[in-house]
Amino acid sequence: MTQDDLFKKLIAHSKEYGFIFQSSEIYDGLSAVYDYGQLGAELKNNIKKYWWEAMVRLNDNIVGIDSAIFMHPRIWEASGHVGAFNDPLIDNKDSKKRYRADVLLEDHIAKIEEKIDKEVEKGRKKFADNFDETKFKETNPNIIRNQNKIDNIKHRMNEALNSNDLDALKQLILDCEIVCPVSGTRNWTDVRQFNLMFSLQMGSTAEGASTIYLRPETAQGIFVNFLNVQKTGRMKIPFGIAQTGKAFRNEIVARQFIFRMREFEQMEMQFFVRPGEELKWFEQWKQNRMFWHKSLGLGDDNYRFHDHEKLAHYANAATDIEFNFPFGFKEVEGIHSRTDFDLGNHQKYSGKKLQYFDSETGESYVPYVVETSIGVDRMMLLILSAAYHEEQLSDGEQRVVLHIPPVLAPVKLAVLPLLKKDGLPEKAREILNALKCDFYCQYDEKDSIGKRYRRQDAIGTPFCITIDHQTLEDNTVTIRHRDTMEQQRTDISKIHEIINEEVSFKKIFEKLINQSKF
Ligand code: ATP
Repeated sequence: MTQDDLFKKLIAHSKEYGFIFQSSEIYDGLSAVYDYGQLGAELKNNIKKYWWEAMVRLNDNIVGIDSAIFMHPRIWEASGHVGAFNDPLIDNKDSKKRYRADVLLEDHIAKIEEKIDKEVEKGRKKFADNFDETKFKETNPNIIRNQNKIDNIKHRMNEALNSNDLDALKQLILDCEIVCPVSGTRNWTDVRQFNLMFSLQMGSTAEGASTIYLRPETAQGIFVNFLNVQKTGRMKIPFGIAQTGKAFRNEIVARQFIFRMREFEQMEMQFFVRPGEELKWFEQWKQNRMFWHKSLGLGDDNYRFHDHEKLAHYANAATDIEFNFPFGFKEVEGIHSRTDFDLGNHQKYSGKKLQYFDSETGESYVPYVVETSIGVDRMMLLILSAAYHEEQLSDGEQRVVLHIPPVLAPVKLAVLPLLKKDGLPEKAREILNALKCDFYCQYDEKDSIGKRYRRQDAIGTPFCITIDHQTLEDNTVTIRHRDTMEQQRTDISKIHEIINEEVSFKKIFEKLINQSKF
């Protein structure tokens, strides 16, 4: 199955089993907006819980807040979003399709990188055990030529973006001979800047209304509450403020399912530090966040850092954590050293002091900030794409299974009476009632047991508990494990412990505490 096929199947599967629906579907949908169904909402809540508890509960010096989406419009002037939260867009005159100029160039670079990868694979086959990848890359003329091409494009792109030179950006697209994927032509318009914020009118009368914005990030709600939290929580630097919540961006190129949406959810943490210590904390948070990701056990090779060459207007260091999605390595989380840009500007624009008195040094200063920012929806896509598998079974059958980490699985266990008679459903309900106080369970008595197992595999339920006639005699059940399909006969009194061991965050959190410098 190609990665493209996998992605298409994943989208269909997400809909079929109630994870993700197109928004307003019966009205033909609203572009780049999605609704989460009954299982999607559970999975999303579990992802948020994993993040929130790892941030707020495991770190004594991080607290969580929940700020409003509507904020004073001056906030977005101070943050730089009114002036600079733009994407460079370009239209193809033949297809009338609109693209982000930087994305067209990045896709072009990715194609050249693919050529390099193919060349490396050829070399690997040719030289077998004697293959030295680094040396091969340094000496192969095709690779050297392509690498030079990439370096040159990146250099020109960063220069053009940093100096906001839109003509240079267009020229680069023309020089790279990039064609529109739809029309196949190079008939491009000029590149223009496009602000990504949605605006709306607040107030009861048209005359008295003022223009406000839907927040494009949750971070500013943290900055403007910095002193409230520091004072009321008696927080001492270094400390962090975390929050999860909706953000809105009028994305030009909204595609790739829930990867790029116009309404999405973020989980952000701003860590306030002494000026001059920000790069040390930046490194620390890079490591901590990578541990958090890798602890889910989805394959260490699927993650990598991508350090930014073009820094945003507020940053002095930035990296992305990228994941190997079905469409390649792409950003799932950003870690940014934001300096004192935000607090400094809010101080200036609001006229209110946003300083911290450091009792250790006897100085007052505007703290520096290291931010970690991850999209809930991208995390959801990450989980689903890593989890989706079609497996050939030894009896010749096939199963579709979601190997979702048990801690995040929407349904933790299914209780299945073997037959719909002989007192088995009653016994099953009794077991269900005892377990549902602690775990999200499903009860299913319809169809053959094999079909019921398949249904649970398809939604990623880690355990199925089967109640049969023996259960009535000796109080034992069968626990079936999703990943191995092994069945284990056990006493009813042991079920809770076996399941809890796998679905509780405890083991992961203990590992995180040991690995990270909390
Ligand atoms: P990209 O380069 O993909 O547009 P970004 O660098 O603008 O992302 P940030 O502003 O750093 O993203 O936002 C932090 C995180 O929020 C991202 O890593 C991503 O997980 C998530 N995110 C940002 N924009 C979107 C979107 N349109 N849809 C879904 N998630 C998003």
